[in-house]
Amino acid sequence: MNENQMRTVLLIEDDPGDALLIAEMLELQQCRASLVRVERLSEGISYLQQNCCDVVLLDMNLPDSSGLPTMTRLMDAAPTTPIIVLTGLSDESFGVEAVKSGAQDYLVKGDIDGRVLKRAMFYAVERKKLEISLKQTRDLFERQSRIDYLTGIYNRLMFNELLEAELQRARRYGTSLSLIMFDLDHFKQINDNYSHIMGDHVLKELAQLISDNIRAHDIFSRWGGEEFMVLVPKCDQAGTSMLAEKLRSLCEIHDFGNGLQVTASFGIAHFCAEDSAESFTARADEAMYLSKKNGRNRIESL
Ligand code: GH3
Ligand code: MG
Ligand code: MG
Ligand code: MG
Repeated sequence: MNENQMRTVLLIEDDPGDALLIAEMLELQQCRASLVRVERLSEGISYLQQNCCDVVLLDMNLPDSSGLPTMTRLMDAAPTTPIIVLTGLSDESFGVEAVKSGAQDYLVKGDIDGRVLKRAMFYAVERKKLEISLKQTRDLFERQSRIDYLTGIYNRLMFNELLEAELQRARRYGTSLSLIMFDLDHFKQINDNYSHIMGDHVLKELAQLISDNIRAHDIFSRWGGEEFMVLVPKCDQAGTSMLAEKLRSLCEIHDFGNGLQVTASFGIAHFCAEDSAESFTARADEAMYLSKKNGRNRIESL
């Protein structure tokens, strides 16, 4: 955006003299944006909730709000709109605080000239765009670091973190904790006989099926290619076996598309006081391999 592409500037200012001065400055600078003025913070917030605006010029002391909260309340209500704070000569320090709290800039009334104002508005818009795009990238990286890209469930890294936390809880409070590991049977054949795309579809569909059938505090994750973990806190051994049996049978009877059926082999480990994360997962893995050895599409516990 260049200065001339700005469409709307919202001025939140209760002093008519200051408001007039700003309007005149913008006019002199041939700023084509329309200037909308309101006198109260509440009016500014409702304006932004219903309208688009390129930048806000905000007086910090208004009839219904004064000081830094004026800025933070506006920012909470319109987090993607750049804000330039207007302070008096005697409260310039508020401006600095406002910038530290997320305002793009501050201008001292009585010390502003039109060119400075116009440039500040332009920079504020550009900086806010950059800030939003950096935040989106950071959120994406953050998500990718804990979510499996294919299935949308937790990945192994995140699972390990949550497992450590649950192990500590079980140790400290003596609560029960079980781990169900399962591995799809003859999954390679699905890739070979159908396609890798079909294989991916089965993994996604299975992840959804399991997610829909566990409790909110059960922790479900993709451990590796076609291997999954369900960490089950505060559930006794009988309850965990029932859950594993429910998941096994759900998988067995599910139609993964055009009548395609898939089974999985399950292994259960129950936490004991000496367990580390490694020994706990290794036991679930061992139990799962026992299921494979004993004929697949079944459950073993260790
Ligand atoms: P078993 O019953 O002994 O577990 O046999 P299996 O064929 O399931 O086991 P194997 O370890 O031989 O093969 C696992 C297959 O899973 C091979 C691999 O290509 C496939 N796989 C792993 N990750 C993915 C994935 O993200 N997408 C697809 N489509 N296939 C995957
Ligand atoms: Mg005022
Ligand atoms: Mg397998
Ligand atoms: Mg496997």
